[in-house]
Amino acid sequence: MSAGPAAGRVYLVGAGPGSLGLVTLRAQALVRLADVLVYDYLCNPAMLGWAKDGTEIIYAGKTASAHTLTQDEINALLVDRAGKGKVVVRLKGGDPYVFGRGGEEALVLAQAKIPFEVVPGVTSAIAAPSYAGIPVTHRGIASTVTFITGHEDPTKAESSLDWSHLAQLRGTKVFLMGVERLREITQRLRDEGADASTPVALVRWGTTGRQESLEGTLATIADLVEKRGFAAPAITVVGEVVRLRQELNWFEALPLHGKRVVVTRTQKQAGRLTAKLMDLGADVLEIPTIRIGPVELVAQEKEKLAAMSGHFDWIVFTSPNGVDEFFGWFDRLHLDIRQLGPVKFAAVGPATAQQIERRHLKVDLQPEVYTTEKLAEAFSGISLRALRFCLAHGNKADPFLADYLRKNGAFVEEWTVYETSPETQDLNGARARYLREGAHFITFTSASTVENWQALKLQPAEGTPQPRAVSIGPVTTAELLKWGYQDVTEASAATINSLVETICHLVIE
Ligand code: SAH
Repeated sequence: MSAGPAAGRVYLVGAGPGSLGLVTLRAQALVRLADVLVYDYLCNPAMLGWAKDGTEIIYAGKTASAHTLTQDEINALLVDRAGKGKVVVRLKGGDPYVFGRGGEEALVLAQAKIPFEVVPGVTSAIAAPSYAGIPVTHRGIASTVTFITGHEDPTKAESSLDWSHLAQLRGTKVFLMGVERLREITQRLRDEGADASTPVALVRWGTTGRQESLEGTLATIADLVEKRGFAAPAITVVGEVVRLRQELNWFEALPLHGKRVVVTRTQKQAGRLTAKLMDLGADVLEIPTIRIGPVELVAQEKEKLAAMSGHFDWIVFTSPNGVDEFFGWFDRLHLDIRQLGPVKFAAVGPATAQQIERRHLKVDLQPEVYTTEKLAEAFSGISLRALRFCLAHGNKADPFLADYLRKNGAFVEEWTVYETSPETQDLNGARARYLREGAHFITFTSASTVENWQALKLQPAEGTPQPRAVSIGPVTTAELLKWGYQDVTEASAATINSLVETICHLVIE
């Protein structure tokens, strides 16, 4: 075996064209396994969230401002970490072997006798046209497709590209990295005899929420690109297949395409709202404002947990986090769920109820409108005198419910099962994008997210769209008004689905 001193290994992994759903299962499994993760500009940074705690994460991308690693430095880094016995995952946008210098890195590893594996990825050369409604081949229209680097200067006498041959090709031509030299490329193709009316399309940030496309001909496209300020990263497709997008452009026809929506929940919770918005084509900026951390229960509470019904008649949850953290203690203390005894459960809304029911426990009480006031009201049909309540909630819980229950003669214990603190990091780069590009909508799913969002004091650059606030319910709306928001739209039911529908309605308006 030539595994070297330690069993280090390098995986050259295609990260796909940008959409998280287009990452392969193999890529995801390896990111989870990595000790060292080296990624670049075109990788979706949400993938970094899959890494285990303690993974060394290194940015090797190219941006104008930041210091970037040279190819030699990247090669040396891969060899060094693998030599130390680490599992190194080198993520590359699209496919590693399509204009990704993956071949060069693999050769260096082979020469250093470091074991490696290459994981192909969905290349943007095919996926970006596809998401713009362009099949790169089509029976009767294009029987060949050629992938071409747009990096080469076509006006140079010694080009490694045979432009006259390219111009004569009747199939589809796909240029990568071609935006900056588009004028020279289209001119050269025409000079070599290509028809000026050949359709051309550019697709930037293909497959992601910020995809944009532009259509013209070999004669017009360079001017259009200049006029629109259409910038890299983009794929350029030249050929008759471009016309098919009139009928096949499903992605850009999604109702929220082109709309930037901020999701302000904690990282852990954001998933469902983000997924729904993305399915409708939105460009989602997940900006977590708070971090949820578990809280140590006091000794007495831990003792009571082992025999809840001996101490309480009702356990009340006012958030899904409360449920998660409460039952987290059953795991940590190795308790048997039957020790709960015949207590009753109340939940403020369906998401909270769902977390209870996931544990095969039925919810006994849930208000029709999902606020703590309405939850209190829902208890009004029950004689509260001498009933014993455990309210399991976060450190910033609304005191209303506890006060109401006590006023009506109940005995109430409040357990703080989780704690919220401000999120200070920008792991996925969404904050930076919000500051640069602004957003069309900001979603608020609780009064506390409003307060936490305000605390971040994020001020987008001038000229960016004025975002509209979309609130999940009346308490959240009241909080927004308190902070001076004027353009607030409230979801008709306090659910994620309703919040998403509300945004769709606003877009159609
Ligand atoms: N290995 C990559 C290509 C790397 S070269 C792949 O297989 O996709 C970098 C070029 O890829 C960019 O200049 C751009 O032309 C293209 N590109 C990568 N991701 C893209 C995307 N999401 N949308 C449009 N073009 C993209």
